[in-house]
Amino acid sequence: MRDLILVLGDQLDPEHPLITAMDRAQDCLWMAEVDEEATHVWSHKARLVVFLSAMRHRRDALDQPLIYHELGTYPDLATALSADLEAQAPQRVRVLKPGDWRVEQAIRRCCDSAGIELCMEDDPHFMCSLDDFAAWAQGRKRFVLEDFYRWMRKRTGTLMQADEPVGGRWNYDEDNRASFGRHGPGSPPTRQRFTPDATTRAVMALVEQRWADHPGSLEAFDWPVTATQAQQALEDFIKYRLPDFGTHQDAMWTDEPFLSHSTLSVALNLKLIDPRTVIDAAVEAWASGHAPINAVEGFVRQILGWREYVRGLYWRDMPGWLDDNALDADEPLPPMYWDGQTNMRCMAQTVGQTLQYGYAHHIQRLMITGLFSLLLGVRPREIHAWYLAVYVDAVEWVELPNTLGMSQHADGGRMASKPYVASGQYVKRMSNYCRGCRYDPADATTDDACPMTTLYWDFLARHEDRFADHRRMRFQYRNYARKTAGERSAISRRANAVRRLVQDGQL
Ligand code: FAD
Ligand code: SF4
Repeated sequence: MRDLILVLGDQLDPEHPLITAMDRAQDCLWMAEVDEEATHVWSHKARLVVFLSAMRHRRDALDQPLIYHELGTYPDLATALSADLEAQAPQRVRVLKPGDWRVEQAIRRCCDSAGIELCMEDDPHFMCSLDDFAAWAQGRKRFVLEDFYRWMRKRTGTLMQADEPVGGRWNYDEDNRASFGRHGPGSPPTRQRFTPDATTRAVMALVEQRWADHPGSLEAFDWPVTATQAQQALEDFIKYRLPDFGTHQDAMWTDEPFLSHSTLSVALNLKLIDPRTVIDAAVEAWASGHAPINAVEGFVRQILGWREYVRGLYWRDMPGWLDDNALDADEPLPPMYWDGQTNMRCMAQTVGQTLQYGYAHHIQRLMITGLFSLLLGVRPREIHAWYLAVYVDAVEWVELPNTLGMSQHADGGRMASKPYVASGQYVKRMSNYCRGCRYDPADATTDDACPMTTLYWDFLARHEDRFADHRRMRFQYRNYARKTAGERSAISRRANAVRRLVQDGQL
């Protein structure tokens, strides 16, 4: 054998360049389902089904020489690969850069100890290669998304007219922060569902039997698991939801888990669809007058900007990210993250839909579960393991910077200059969760106080030395300065009570 070509579970691109270029006479593809990928974090059942079912569908569509190990053959990737390196003795191993530093290390170690050459190539799925990202980052003290995003717009010509952004503005964020108001979103268009076929149903049964105690439900499972379904999901989003994507991008509503979000992250991260295809379809919707510029620019920013940017940062700073804990957070992850059992309506809703679908949209992840963990001071590694476990789209290169950088400020500000902190008043403004909640978002000190609000003021107090002079937090600290000494100690007392109650599952 000349090349053993590894195709990892998140590399299911129908145009996978190493598959397209392989020589059937001398090369062989290699895929493996291993328990380790389900257990290194306590994975949601839907996440397991998405990965395993998509792998099996990809396998069934291949007609090239292939070694495929089904679950139960090997416990982990290293054992599986080492066995085949010995049995097949290929001249080389070829693989696209994995989505996870841990997996990359395992592959390197296997090839080293077998004495087999490893060719690891950058994944052309991404629009910014790691070399290009390094060139962009070179010499910069701070890595600001907006700078990166404009650079990407210019170099790809996306939404550009000569050197200027179409519509005259780079950024429509200001237009994209509206809440739904008292009457809510009405009836948002439902998203296309993909009924599990026989392959998916077999995987669902396997997961239920093998990992019965894992979190999450499969009852509502309807994620795309093939490239054809991913394309249908894109068309459905462009037609029915993109026009409304922008204005209410940050808003939340009870029992509305998806609203106008694309839900394309899982298809993108498994590489069932190319980001260029997604961006082109959105830009075309603007060009044809189907969707307004604030929606299209807001959507393009997420994929051309954020998605590429976090991948560059991940590979630039791994494995250092894993030890980051700039705010010395040391609380354990509260049990409510795994069962959604709490009187906090915002948390019950967000965790509840996460367990049901393996999905929550960005502001729920950032400003509900992420915010509560940040305010509480949960150990970064524990909240990172939770995010990596519970979302169907979770792959470490995208999850980790979003969690440790953007959401928990564990990186000390490499990614976002200030922590995303807010009180329950923010949640009240952006959702209807507070209506009917047992807690009061305006109260910080009594037994009825909103835990977000109490912990918000407590966070400002605990980190005053670090953030009081921060240019973008002055307004928040000016309000904190108005609190009397009595109010401050009442906040601190209630915050300590909240910390006890939350760990006892009584909040
Ligand atoms: P839409 O709102 O429709 O956005 C369109 C696309 O843009 C998404 O599909 C996604 O590919 C991309 N995108 C949007 N925001 C981001 C972002 N901040 N970083 C990178 N790409 C982005 N995204 C993941 O794909 N996997 C994760 O494991 C993940 N973990 C996260 C953890 C935390 C704490 C936070 C705050 C965010 C995380 N995100 C993650 C980013 C974002 O929340 C999801 O991409 C998004 O909610 C997926 O839903 P959607 O496809 O409906 O997105
Ligand atoms: Fe969440 Fe506080 Fe609002 Fe209740 S009052 S929903 S705990 S923000």
